[in-house]
Amino acid sequence: EDDPAQPVQVPKDKILGDILPTGFDEKSCLSRYQSLLYRRGVPRKASPHLISKLRSYEALHKKCGPYTALYNKTMEDLKSGRYSSISDCKYLVWISFSGLGNRILTLASAFLYALLTDRVLLVDPGIDIPDLFCEPFPDVSWLLPLDFPLTSQFNGFNQKSRQSYGNLLKSKSVGNITGSAPQPYVYLHLVHDYDDHDKLFFCDQDQSYLQKIPWLIMKTDNYFIPSLFLIHSFEQELHNLFPDKETVFHLLGRYLFHPTNSVWGLISRYYEAYLSKADVKVGIQIRVFDTETGPFKHVLDQILSCTMKEGILPQINEQEPIIKPSGKQKTVSVLMTSLSGGYFEEVRDLYWEHPTVTGDVIEVYQPSHEGHQQTEKQNHNRKAWAEMYLLSLTDKLVTSSWSTFGYVAQGLGNLKPWILYKPENRTAPDPPCQRAASMEPCFHAPPFYDCKLRRGMDTGALVPHVKHCEDMSWGLKLV
Ligand code: GDP
Repeated sequence: EDDPAQPVQVPKDKILGDILPTGFDEKSCLSRYQSLLYRRGVPRKASPHLISKLRSYEALHKKCGPYTALYNKTMEDLKSGRYSSISDCKYLVWISFSGLGNRILTLASAFLYALLTDRVLLVDPGIDIPDLFCEPFPDVSWLLPLDFPLTSQFNGFNQKSRQSYGNLLKSKSVGNITGSAPQPYVYLHLVHDYDDHDKLFFCDQDQSYLQKIPWLIMKTDNYFIPSLFLIHSFEQELHNLFPDKETVFHLLGRYLFHPTNSVWGLISRYYEAYLSKADVKVGIQIRVFDTETGPFKHVLDQILSCTMKEGILPQINEQEPIIKPSGKQKTVSVLMTSLSGGYFEEVRDLYWEHPTVTGDVIEVYQPSHEGHQQTEKQNHNRKAWAEMYLLSLTDKLVTSSWSTFGYVAQGLGNLKPWILYKPENRTAPDPPCQRAASMEPCFHAPPFYDCKLRRGMDTGALVPHVKHCEDMSWGLKLV
């Protein structure tokens, strides 16, 4: 049993010899080397097959990445609208879309899809990707070059786009598309409003068509990995890559997402100041999906009843005077995150105004209360990323239903969270929360279709490792 308060000291060569490639300049991205020193417990191991797959991906990326000879060649084909089947390099372009938690999940999903289909992942920098994440691959950038000819269309790509896979199917009739001349590029619309044709992306025969397309451009706001596990042609490879299904996002996340030095400063300073000395670190992530901003009493009630019922925080002692229990009292640091500061103030005051029955000392902190989502503001997203990361460094985590912000924290942190159920009619649900079956994120908009039988079915009942989510009955997650 590892002591959660003691970060494990991992020697540098071990960090490098594990899942990460060598050959980076240490100072340009400190988190790559220092992050393991902050993580509690024993790191989850990547399979040898995943490690070798990552090394061969890095070689492919170096061969085909931006401005390499092969890249320049396929770029000419793309610009002239020519289809070339002989290209050695095929690409998957990820469009920067939606909130930061969503983007982290979709980027991991896109990367795994690229691994499975031998494509090179290129990342639309959007307004802030290079400001938030270090380059994950050695030698050649993962960023889509600024002169990429289709970038100006990214914003306009939507469910109705002529170039979307679903609409290509509709315009050519489903049976025929495989026979017609392939396109130089196809837009994959995997946003939550995608229709039944777009969803055929998750079928084997459609994958064999897409395999021939040199450029795939993907827009999504969903963690679609659970449904990749239901595609027959990917099944064996996924099993070899991830014998332990619960670690998919955790390992891909550890590999891909290294905070830049500016974000790492926010993380490490906060951690040293408010978390590192505590005996127990508790994370509470509050995300309220309501038209009004709150804070709401029913949400506060829910937080308190969940944390006290589950033994995450101690009960308070209403009796006076205080008799301090003998023996050593624990210090518990509570890290709260929310757009509102109201919940944090209430919890902090509660433990100021009352002693705990255990005598434990409760410190309550919240890094920011930004009021509302401000996707376009740079410092806002730096803070959001730092807060997701800080939550991932806690020992016990409480998250809000439906929130990708919480999924990122639990996944990076190797934490099975207690999920606060979504309140209905402004009342605290009873029970207030449930322990998650795994640390994996939930796919909020999965297809319910049997590709072979061509009819609807429950995709959460096919294999033991793909189940419905605790916080969304129609969602799918790996367990
Ligand atoms: P989701 O909407 O909860 O699934 O998470 P996303 O991260 O995709 O989008 C929510 C966005 O709102 C975040 O990216 C932040 O910009 C902002 N946000 C939500 N909750 C918090 C919070 O607790 N702290 C900070 N700093 N920002 C938050």
